[in-house]
Amino acid sequence: MSALLPTYARSGLTFARGEGAFLFDETGARYLDFSSGIAVTALGHAHPHLVAALNEQAQKVWHVSNLYGIPDQERLGQRLCDATFADRVFFANSGAEAVEASIKCARRYHFANGAPERFRLITFEGAFHGRTLATIAAGGQAKHLEGFGPPVGGFDQVAGFDIDAIEEVISDETAGVLLEPIMGEGGMREVPYRFLQDLRALCDEKGLLLILDEVQSGVGRTGRFYAHEWAEITPDIMASAKGLGGGFPVGACLTTEAVGQAMVPGTHGSTFGGNPLAMAVGNAVLDVVLEPGFLEHVAQMGLRLKQQLAGIADEHSEIIAEVRGQGLMMGLQCKPENTKLVAALRERGMLTVPAGDNVVRLLPPLIVDEEEIDLASRTIDAACIALKAGDAG
Ligand SMILES: *Cc1c(COP(=O)(O)O)cnc(C)c1O
Repeated sequence: MSALLPTYARSGLTFARGEGAFLFDETGARYLDFSSGIAVTALGHAHPHLVAALNEQAQKVWHVSNLYGIPDQERLGQRLCDATFADRVFFANSGAEAVEASIKCARRYHFANGAPERFRLITFEGAFHGRTLATIAAGGQAKHLEGFGPPVGGFDQVAGFDIDAIEEVISDETAGVLLEPIMGEGGMREVPYRFLQDLRALCDEKGLLLILDEVQSGVGRTGRFYAHEWAEITPDIMASAKGLGGGFPVGACLTTEAVGQAMVPGTHGSTFGGNPLAMAVGNAVLDVVLEPGFLEHVAQMGLRLKQQLAGIADEHSEIIAEVRGQGLMMGLQCKPENTKLVAALRERGMLTVPAGDNVVRLLPPLIVDEEEIDLASRTIDAACIALKAGDAG
């Protein structure tokens, strides 16, 4: 019996090392990693620049606490602000903490502006924002809430991307709207750009804050630094994590100056958040992601993958119902159970991630090349053929 809480349905695979887009088990068997630890190892495994940054910082100082100045935290914060809408950043250790900080910022903003009654956030069915008590309430999924007592209050969930439905639930207590520009866990569902633009306009009109959860879609994943850039809008608050540390736990809550100035000393904090080791790696990730041409590479690889997937979906319409997503955040909605395709791919040496709505997520590292994309497509094709043969037999 394992000593660990049985919270995960593990595949039983273990890995001894990784290199670029590949993982290797103890026997040396190779796996093409199109899961990236669920969009975390954005620069692949053992990226030399990240390994060097981590090693170098490890010789100097790992941790000091936010009681003291942390130069690399200032630097990473400034770089994130320079590259986005944001003026202020708070560092955390995970996606859920980044969303939690975002929720607190939204409430505190209205409190600081004389409207403490405005604390409610509008959220969306099928959303995923993490596993803390507040973020499971924000996600609103019964399977995540069950057995954990009364959900944290202050979340009003709507179905679909319908601006009239949003207007209907806005009350004097509404503080803002929280959503993922592409729903990851929910099945790689893209929010229409038009809806995001209408939402931005509505928030401006009603004095509400637009909060984006870019924990999965951010840091280059879609071919822009953050996915909302495609819709040519900016949020007031944004949660980032996953790819931001390239595999080292780093989360961040980014805000405008108007929101950020409400978070005065004592309003929020984290022991580990933004520690020197994490910040050294975060800065190294940005060195690569913000290098001229890198995001274009992601967009190009994404296009290549999308085109090939479209061909595979045409060929195997009994297996694949729909191709979704953007850049290197792609999803295959399946006709048979998605876990069957995940297993068939795993048997053929390729790692993917199931998602809601019967989707298989493809999340290659952003450094993936043409050959690896082509290998992935051949593997998916072979898995679909095998699944069809299995159904026939
Ligand atoms: C993964 C994820 C989270 C939670 O991140 P953790 O690091 O697991 O806490 C929150 N929001 C989105 C959109 C995610 O994909």
